[in-house]
Amino acid sequence: ITEPTKLPLTVHLCAPRGFCAGVDRAIQIVEIALDRYGPPVYVRHEIVHNRYVVEELKRKGAVFVEELDEIPAGEKPVVFSAHGVPKSVPADAARREMFFLDATCPLVSKVHREAEIHFKRGRHILLVGHAGHPEVIGTMGQLPEGAVTLVETEADAETVLPPDTDNLAWITQTTLSVDDTRAIVAVLTRRFPRIVAPHKDDICYATTNRQDAVRAVAPRVDAMIVVGAPNSSNSQRLREVASRAGCERAFLIQRAADIDWEAVGTVSAVGITAGASAPEILVEEVIDAFAARYAVTVETVRTADETVSFNLPRELRLPAAQ
Ligand code: SF4
Repeated sequence: ITEPTKLPLTVHLCAPRGFCAGVDRAIQIVEIALDRYGPPVYVRHEIVHNRYVVEELKRKGAVFVEELDEIPAGEKPVVFSAHGVPKSVPADAARREMFFLDATCPLVSKVHREAEIHFKRGRHILLVGHAGHPEVIGTMGQLPEGAVTLVETEADAETVLPPDTDNLAWITQTTLSVDDTRAIVAVLTRRFPRIVAPHKDDICYATTNRQDAVRAVAPRVDAMIVVGAPNSSNSQRLREVASRAGCERAFLIQRAADIDWEAVGTVSAVGITAGASAPEILVEEVIDAFAARYAVTVETVRTADETVSFNLPRELRLPAAQ
């Protein structure tokens, strides 16, 4: 019996894609802590928004909790996730005499510091971001209640009524859509011409680069697959960017088993990318799934080179105590 000939398919692999420096560092922090202190190592919230990563770390002895009071008293470290935490969390950990390691991405910490500087200078802050996302909760939680107002949409930007329109600043979540944010900020600067902007974009390099790569690939392909978690903000944005850039069949999936082949339909070119918290092994799995059905040729479309890396927290850079 001869197998039916497979139809040809070009896979346009977006680059950069997948892990960013902040995610890489956060995972390393948990792994080194497991190595150094032995399991269990507690992690407050999913260290990064990816089920596969979380399950792998669980297998190695990490225990994930949502709040500190779920952690029994003792010597074991607790790691705060890459998204950052409100100031009350390290304060609470200190009060409970817990040993904590902060895996907040340095680019999120940069936004926290900006917020504090604006506050010290008497400015009210408009934070562009998505309600309920842990990064937004963490950023708002750097300052007393009422110091920051969340702006989610252009409509919010049109109607927000800050207490003092002459002393205002805007900051953003790091993983937003570059295009949507530009539109929201345009409304804010039209309404409040004196509003102070960040020195350097708060949307991080990884978010921007992944969106650029998708924008370059989307018009050339019949379907775009974004590997990432449904609660991952930057992955959601990649799917939106793909459909706005002309690829209507854009899907966010956690892994290959989630591909809805009927919805994908017949394709001769697909784009594949991955959110900043999705490991490469899941991208390979998706390519393999296409290769099982098509005669696949993979072409990488690189729109930027990334060389960013971050230092580990000081506690982990020092040699382990004997
Ligand atoms: Fe840091 Fe950006 Fe990665 Fe978030 S997406 S962890 S801000 S580098």
